[in-house]
Amino acid sequence: MNLTFKNRTALVTGAGRGIGKAIAETLARSGVMVICVSKSAESCGATAAGIVAAGGKASACAVDVADGAAVAKASEELLKAYPLIDILVNNAGITRDGLLFRMGEGDWNDVISTNLSSCFHWTKHLARPMTRARWGRIVNITSVSGILGNAGQANYSAAKAGMIGLTKSLAREFAGRNITVNAVAPGFIKTDMTTEFVNNPEVAAKILEAVPLKRFGESADIAAATAFLCSEEAAYVTGQVFAVDGGMAM
Ligand code: NAP
Repeated sequence: MNLTFKNRTALVTGAGRGIGKAIAETLARSGVMVICVSKSAESCGATAAGIVAAGGKASACAVDVADGAAVAKASEELLKAYPLIDILVNNAGITRDGLLFRMGEGDWNDVISTNLSSCFHWTKHLARPMTRARWGRIVNITSVSGILGNAGQANYSAAKAGMIGLTKSLAREFAGRNITVNAVAPGFIKTDMTTEFVNNPEVAAKILEAVPLKRFGESADIAAATAFLCSEEAAYVTGQVFAVDGGMAM
């Protein structure tokens, strides 16, 4: 099925690598203008340059999504250049794993601010023009850890579960303005975030015991689900958590 996008502009956080890069490239292939955000100018710049070289429309913006003031400033500048950013994909995320008694307050705060508070800040700034336009799509990339919990990931699971609560609340708040808000919950996907697990045969085998489809996912699997939720075709879907996890959380 070809997805329909009517002259849309998207902002994708964490678009420099992995899942965010795949989402940015997939939306761009459907004709969406994509603002690629990442922490380093090199990685979002490379993604945007790749999209433009392939004939798509993209720009890059380096901003630390964990810094609310920086997100406010970047949003203000971006909205001058693109008055209506009608698709927002909150994908940037980090892990700082450890069992609770060994988890420092810094590890807790960094994970909460990067994964969860960033969604609050971006949505607050970018959703207002969507409400005026009476059309918008917001997709938050959560995790199977936010649904099931995971030993050693109290900070990450709490942030990802928080994203699900945020998604459902904002879906209710914005429904009257024709803005849908959904979450995608990846399982184990092959990216820089999971290299150390995927490349360790013993750890990989242990993880795959919990994956009914018995393989790791690809960034393209998450990009396909996200693109659908951003499209016209998903107009009647809101407040949902779409697990793309090989069956882990069923
Ligand atoms: P990744 O390969 O580590 O890439 C993370 C991206 O996020 C990078 O582009 C990075 O920017 C950006 N980023 C991190 N911190 C940032 C910050 N403070 N400000 C701006 N950008 C920041 O991660 P991934 O595996 O693609 O994961 C993407 C999302 O999916 C995350 O939210 C993750 O929690 C979620 N997820 C992943 C998996 C998995 O198995 N991979 C499973 C479940 C959920 P730079 O390029 O500049 O470093």
